[in-house]
Amino acid sequence: MRQPLIAGNWKMNGSKADSTDLLNGIKAGVADIVRSEVAVCPPFPYLYLTEQLLAGTLIRYGAQDVSREPGGAFTGQVSASMLKDFGCTYAIVGHSERRLFNGETNATVARKFAEALSTGLVPILCVGETLEEREQGKTEEVVASHLDAVIEHCGVDGLGRGVIAYEPVWAIGTGVTATPEQAQDVHAFLRQRIAAKSGDVASAIRILYGGSMKPSNAEELIRKPDIDGGLIGGAALKAADFLAICRAGDAATA
Ligand code: PEP
Repeated sequence: MRQPLIAGNWKMNGSKADSTDLLNGIKAGVADIVRSEVAVCPPFPYLYLTEQLLAGTLIRYGAQDVSREPGGAFTGQVSASMLKDFGCTYAIVGHSERRLFNGETNATVARKFAEALSTGLVPILCVGETLEEREQGKTEEVVASHLDAVIEHCGVDGLGRGVIAYEPVWAIGTGVTATPEQAQDVHAFLRQRIAAKSGDVASAIRILYGGSMKPSNAEELIRKPDIDGGLIGGAALKAADFLAICRAGDAATA
């Protein structure tokens, strides 16, 4: 069975004080979470604090983005090796907010995925359609293009060293969640598409759901056979809500 992963994406929120409180709150409540893997992705400036506060715990952490370049004259960027240096396990790549606000293309995202892998980071590849694309019946076409770009660049075995997060853009930060059936359909589609290249990778890779996941809907979503946890935005900013989702991950796989 795939171990559920509950990863918090804090986005560009909080301060040093808020991050300290949130990390301490998660640390204080995590002891009874036994099946789910727990991870947080704070903003870059708080990774050092995260490294200090989470030392000696099982809580993993990562970054919300990574440069596609290994280093050098790339002002403002943060390399995968720097993230490793701060003890990161994960790097989110291809979040829809980066595709939208930073013009990231499938090719850029695939290079970031590869760069993360090259240093031993685990990339979390976000895929997902907009509302307009869903209404036009293009959901599978869009998520396939996001997925295929990484398979073409890194190979299916490379993909298998990462995690996928299906995040319908219309569900992110809107309070509208995909129904468990809608999410399961897309997760199953992604897994079948990977299976056409490698059955082993398809059965082992974790596919998270993201988009207004919260304590009240997490267990039902994670109970679906192809949903292996969540990438959590808003609800990851309150320790009690985030921990409740982690417990839902445990309950769904009990
Ligand atoms: C996200 O941005 O990754 C996300 C899932 O956000 P939210 O949970 O707030 O919809």
